[in-house]
Amino acid sequence: MANDLRLTTYRRLVETIVSLGIPTLTVRDFIRAKPEGDMCILRHDVEWGCGRSLAVARIEAELGVRATYYFHGQHRPRVFLPGEIAKFAALGHEVGYHHETLDQCRGDFDAARRLFIDNLAAFRRAGLTIDTVCSHGNPRVRKVGYKVNYDLFKRYPELLAEQGLLGESYMEGRPPEMFSSSDTGARITAFRLAKTVHIPGASVQGLIDTLAAGRDRRLHILTHPDYWSDGALRANALSLAGRLAHLATSTLKRLKRI
Ligand SMILES: [Zn+2]
Repeated sequence: MANDLRLTTYRRLVETIVSLGIPTLTVRDFIRAKPEGDMCILRHDVEWGCGRSLAVARIEAELGVRATYYFHGQHRPRVFLPGEIAKFAALGHEVGYHHETLDQCRGDFDAARRLFIDNLAAFRRAGLTIDTVCSHGNPRVRKVGYKVNYDLFKRYPELLAEQGLLGESYMEGRPPEMFSSSDTGARITAFRLAKTVHIPGASVQGLIDTLAAGRDRRLHILTHPDYWSDGALRANALSLAGRLAHLATSTLKRLKRI
């Protein structure tokens, strides 16, 4: 478990998916075709910089796999680097916009709508094709009048189509019956949207074992490549930080109930 967040482990996970013959899809592919049967949607949120994500994108391209990478907008200049983002598209991956305009605008829906349109236009002005978007979740931002950033499209149901978008990853790109795995907070979890089912050991190896056992063949895998690296030291430190942060949050929740 300690070495979960190493690129070599990620490569093994993708190799397992490929060797099992499970087709991999981008979010765009999925929303367009809504295929039945075996499949794995691979989604990555790029949070801190493009470098580590590009390493992951290259591993996938080498293995013949296409994934979706969501990038923050102009307000995060270490991520919004059109020249770098174009490299992901050149490898065959889908690139999309990781939006958080309701957080940025403190719940002002009108302002968030304008900012969303503005940020999306900046991607397209830079020559990038954007067909889908995905909401960023920041637990540190207090949400007043909304719960998640994609509530924007519940207030303005026409906004996605109006902006020439196929869909939003949380709304159309992840059906409830799908087996999902996420590394949010540098902790591996696996769940169905209807009920949380933790995989053995809650690790990437556990996920590989579950897949190899043939138990689940309709999957949605989310990673944040900024957590992943080649070095064991960084991987171990992040994995420990993730576990401690989770422990702190769950202890706080319990204390609030006492
Ligand atoms: Zn995010």
